[in-house]
Amino acid sequence: MIGHIKYFVGNWKMFGIPRSIKIIDRINSFFNKDKKNNKSYKIAIAPPHTLIQDFSNKYKNKKIIISAQNCYHKDSFGAHTGQISPFMIKNIGIKFIIIGHSENRASGETDKIIQEKIQFTLKNNFKVFLCIGENSTEKRKKKTFTVLKNQLKSALNKRYNFNNIIIAYEPVWSIGTGKILSPNELKKIIIFLKKFIKNHFKKKTHIKILYGGSVDKKSIYKFKSIKELDGFLIGSASKSSKNFIDIIKNFYK
Ligand code: PEP
Repeated sequence: MIGHIKYFVGNWKMFGIPRSIKIIDRINSFFNKDKKNNKSYKIAIAPPHTLIQDFSNKYKNKKIIISAQNCYHKDSFGAHTGQISPFMIKNIGIKFIIIGHSENRASGETDKIIQEKIQFTLKNNFKVFLCIGENSTEKRKKKTFTVLKNQLKSALNKRYNFNNIIIAYEPVWSIGTGKILSPNELKKIIIFLKKFIKNHFKKKTHIKILYGGSVDKKSIYKFKSIKELDGFLIGSASKSSKNFIDIIKNFYK
């Protein structure tokens, strides 16, 4: 069932050079022609840091959102060679950012670091896609719910404006593997997360939750029935305009 506005977020990871803007141009012309666009969905693309300023200038007055993929966990300026702060990203006109991606967690990003990133990105008025998800061992040991709760408790704070936070539930074992949860299992997790967040952080409304992990033009069919889902975070398939557009077309077919 299709109801409220969905997000289709493309995470390019370490991909893209200046001429890759053509991918976004093609997605943009599809979006402009698609009659469902304003009512049904939003598109965000997260290219690497080398491209976001140029791309966001080109897309400033258009509807496609250019997002950052990550930032450093300290703000302003400082002696952190090779790092980029939320303040610096904000100042090139970017308003959305992915935080806590499992690939960054795997290369040393701790809960504490993620907590700081969330704190500083929200302080800089970003809308944050916060990635959470269990790995295969945690899943096998039936720890999924505990892991997700702990990641949320450590990253978020009830003082935050949850309208600026969008959760991306991305089971680590599903990213780039072609393995996908059954729609029933996914629905249970999404409902659990929405309830947990609302109760634990004492919020009046439910937070938005996306799903990520091997979403492509074939697997997207599986998620159509999960009305609680607010969209998708898409890795590999977002590097091709055709694949990305086909995901959207098939979702609304
Ligand atoms: C991701 O890395 O966030 C992701 C969902 O990747 P993929 O779609 O390639 O599984």
